[in-house]
Amino acid sequence: MKPYRDLSTPQRAWDFVVIGAGVIGVSIARELKRRHGGHVLVIEKEDSAGRHASGRNSGVLHTGVYYTAGSLKARLCVEGNRRMREYCLTNRIPMVDKGKVIVTRHEGELPALRELHKRSQANGVRVSLIDEQALHEIEPCAKTVGQALFVQDTAVINPQKVMEAMVAEAAREGVEFRYGCAWGGARRDGVVETSQGQIAYGHLVNCAGLFADRVAHAYGVGRQYRILPFRGQFYLLRPQSKVRVNGNIYPVPDLRNPFLGVHFTRRPEGEVTVGPSALPLLGREQYRGLRGANMSDSAAMVRYLARLFGRNLDHFRSIAWKEAVKMSRLGFYREAVGLADGLELRDLLPGKEPGIRAQLVNTGTAELLSDFVIEHGPQSTHVLNAVSPAFTSSLPFADYVVSAMKLDH
Ligand SMILES: Cc1cc2nc3c(=O)[nH]c(=O)nc-3n(C[C@H](O)[C@H](O)[C@H](O)COP(=O)(O)OP(=O)(O)OC[C@H]3O[C@@H](n4cnc5c(N)ncnc54)[C@H](O)[C@@H]3O)c2cc1C
Repeated sequence: MKPYRDLSTPQRAWDFVVIGAGVIGVSIARELKRRHGGHVLVIEKEDSAGRHASGRNSGVLHTGVYYTAGSLKARLCVEGNRRMREYCLTNRIPMVDKGKVIVTRHEGELPALRELHKRSQANGVRVSLIDEQALHEIEPCAKTVGQALFVQDTAVINPQKVMEAMVAEAAREGVEFRYGCAWGGARRDGVVETSQGQIAYGHLVNCAGLFADRVAHAYGVGRQYRILPFRGQFYLLRPQSKVRVNGNIYPVPDLRNPFLGVHFTRRPEGEVTVGPSALPLLGREQYRGLRGANMSDSAAMVRYLARLFGRNLDHFRSIAWKEAVKMSRLGFYREAVGLADGLELRDLLPGKEPGIRAQLVNTGTAELLSDFVIEHGPQSTHVLNAVSPAFTSSLPFADYVVSAMKLDH
């Protein structure tokens, strides 16, 4: 692609402007620079990168156990796990590399466990069905009924460390970052309004996470979609707890919904997190209480949540009910106690920052979308459903998005 230059435009012209310095925006910007050269600018409304989902997630490098064979998620997650592990090793980012076990809480979960085993095999993931004795050798405190799944290549990293390394690398390679610079609206073709003035571009890439639908709509793209925010709350396991966790202990999830359930995860810094929940919110950045909710947005969220509740697709009512229960420590405890022997209510300590998932919903059908969604407009590309495991998948995800871009000049 030839560099884009139009010196009559309001500011210096950029070949590519990427909105959002989360893991997706940064990895796409880096890939654009590597492939096309030219001037690449990332604008970020916060004062540093990774302040939202990318810096506040569980840090688990997933493997592709859960996803339907052939889905974009399955493909990008399998490759993403391999590449992110390599990236962390090369950049000396500490990693807990002890795999994960998926356990059943009652016999009724065994068919879903076997389905996960099948999906893993179809996706080429290294897994084994193990009995209780083998489980105890891997995770002495984990409980299961009959069988469990051992997933060898699951690892845990600190996502903020990965973000720091990626931003530093992209900057070294010539990507420019402008912080405190919020996208504020689409003007005419090729010019974007920001809190720091107008910026001219050749191609715009929308990686705005929780606001990606709003940005896309301004370009006439993805009008059938809307982002619903779901807050993931975590507890820290009391260091004196009888529960010992080597790697990760996960439940069998309800395969009809996009969330994986409360799990135990040992982090590279040594502590163990328990979580996250997935509470539907009224505000996109509603990290605590009602802060981060705004009236017009909240009214729209209430409308969509009511429709999801009414239609009950993907068993939304039972998800919402289960998640509401987890708002209390006791409800959370009841969810976690089925996974590990020796857990006590007092073992759950507050501590880790919550994260908010940007879950896409189709407003026509009231369905929660499970696969990644990328849409194109004239001179623009929009990443609309970069939900978990998008952190794990970010490196091949960037290759995929950059290859699929429709560049007009
Ligand atoms: C609780 C939780 C646990 C998770 N666990 C895992 C896990 O274990 N493994 C895994 O692989 N994935 C996990 N995920 C998913 C993963 O974190 C996300 O898929 C990924 O971080 C999405 O990255 P992103 O760059 O799209 O979004 P974000 O990180 O949210 O980045 C979007 C950026 O856009 C910026 N922005 C928004 N609006 C504007 C604007 N108007 N102008 C300028 N900038 C703007 C925001 O400030 C933000 O920095 C988890 C997510 C959550 C919430």
